[in-house]
Amino acid sequence: MAWKDAALYSILNTKCPRCHEGDMFPKGTFYNFRKFSEMNEKCSCCGQHFEPEPGFYYGAMFVSYAFSTAIFIGVWIALSFMVKEVTLTMMIIALIISVVVLLPINFRLSRSIWIHIFIRYKGPCNTYKN
Ligand SMILES: [Zn+2]
Repeated sequence: MAWKDAALYSILNTKCPRCHEGDMFPKGTFYNFRKFSEMNEKCSCCGQHFEPEPGFYYGAMFVSYAFSTAIFIGVWIALSFMVKEVTLTMMIIALIISVVVLLPINFRLSRSIWIHIFIRYKGPCNTYKN
């Protein structure tokens, strides 16, 4: 199996879950804080809608919550290696910085994982019609 057929490839590159070709998010908006949450309406290759039904991405909040917990634990461990005693203020500041910096990654990966759970890979889009 080619790397491009792997769900992991498609999830990490936020590609269309059905064909692994089209982009879920417009190019060049990743670290633009007003635009990182904009999504393409549908896949440019196979026409798969990226919001299959209204409110589809509410469930992605659970994935996002898991990421946030991982960030929290990561920050805590990192801090306890760097300083003798981790204070609450330190923890809060470090958390705010990491959550804000990682927000686009968290947001996009959560949505990408979520849609990949529900829509199966059908192969390259030139092998089938919409
Ligand atoms: Zn597609």
